[in-house]
Amino acid sequence: MSHTHVLHRSLRQTPPVAVRGQGVWVYDSTGRAYLDGSGGAAVSCLGHNHPDIQAAMHAQIDALSYAHTSFFTTEVAERLADRLVADAPAGISHAYFVSGGSEAVEAALKMARQYFVEIGQPERRHIVARRQSYHGNTLGALAVGGNAWRRAQFAPLLIEVEHVSPCYAYRDQRDGESAEQYGERLAQELEQTFERLGPGTVMAFVAEPVVGATAGAVTAVPGYFRRMREVCDRHGVLLIADEVMCGMGRTGTLYAIEQEGVTPDLITIAKGLGGGYQPIGAVMAQRRIVEAMQQGSGFFQHGHTYLGHAVACAASLAVQDVIRRDGLLARVREQGAGLRERLERALGGHPQVGDIRGRGLFMGIELVQDRATRQTFDPALSLHARVKREAMARGLMVYPMGGTIDGRQGDHVLLAPPLHHHGRRTGPIDRTPGRRHRRRHRADARLSAAPAGAAGGIRCAP
Ligand code: PLP
Repeated sequence: MSHTHVLHRSLRQTPPVAVRGQGVWVYDSTGRAYLDGSGGAAVSCLGHNHPDIQAAMHAQIDALSYAHTSFFTTEVAERLADRLVADAPAGISHAYFVSGGSEAVEAALKMARQYFVEIGQPERRHIVARRQSYHGNTLGALAVGGNAWRRAQFAPLLIEVEHVSPCYAYRDQRDGESAEQYGERLAQELEQTFERLGPGTVMAFVAEPVVGATAGAVTAVPGYFRRMREVCDRHGVLLIADEVMCGMGRTGTLYAIEQEGVTPDLITIAKGLGGGYQPIGAVMAQRRIVEAMQQGSGFFQHGHTYLGHAVACAASLAVQDVIRRDGLLARVREQGAGLRERLERALGGHPQVGDIRGRGLFMGIELVQDRATRQTFDPALSLHARVKREAMARGLMVYPMGGTIDGRQGDHVLLAPPLHHHGRRTGPIDRTPGRRHRRRHRADARLSAAPAGAAGGIRCAP
């Protein structure tokens, strides 16, 4: 098959042609199998071709594929919202369905702004987010993200967003500083930032409960989010938890922020919400925000053509059903502990592995040139991209990323395997050159499928 007209991410290379998926495996047109150790980009939470999700989608397609949300709602959208709200942090009362993560972030920002306009505080316009973060690629969401590399060439097009320090203990917690002191220092920085921007002018603080696509599964120190919540409350600022990557069970609770003991005002979700079976995202909103709009203009001034797409909602509802029916949240916690242990055993002593971190089945490995100094590799080496290439050559998908650390590009590898496993591999793992490499690099952290029927999706081969 020749490919000439699809504009691929890499303009120099055409990737393998994916033709089939089964459980944790993706197959290309040459018959090679790839173990999906990252769910693509932390998307395929139930693996590929799950029969229950397919059946739900087929049933919805037979009934109705699409009805524009300015004319209709659908049973599946209503049921999905009920399900998500029932398990959401206190006070979250509504779901606004969009087509993906960036759209969810855009909608959350606009909802925050409209809320303040509706309640008579139109001077609230500033957004505060964190460096070392990613919130999407549309211009608004890109502006909120703090990844310097992703932002650089688009900087003149981006709205102004204030960036504070991330909570990144591996690099930023000072010698002798306790987690509590570190969290307090970050809370003070946020408070000073709000004060500098002007009392009553900040509308939202945006943060990922577990940082994904910029720094590879970085969790906050205990108490950090509680402190940030308190600062937001003191200043009347909305807390937006961006759970596009870390949400929907990946860290062992449906919403990652549950583990921080705080309630956000808005939560953005996507990726695992539809598990890759359909593009879908959502903004989960606190009742008082929705009520302010209901009692004010009566209209959320936003909208895209595919809001609440019926087949996407049906797929997502089925994903939610499977997560609950199969007890996957408990399983993630158990499997996550096993994955961490195996990663530490296999890679913990590697001279180029600086940090192994994460929560549940959301694990990151930070690669460094020097463990003692935590010196990053020369960005020109694009080590993360090379890791991805080598893993693919061995029949393994991992999600690599280059974040910005101390103004330089760092290298991380993210693992986000399916929350459970269904189906057996039906083809070869790979042919060349992976087999030779596998024999030579037995100690590498490679992932292999759990035996069919074993508890849990993926295990790390010793
Ligand atoms: N927010 C976070 C935390 C993400 O990780 C991502 C994507 O990786 C996005 C937003 C953007 O989502 P999407 O790629 O679906 O637009």
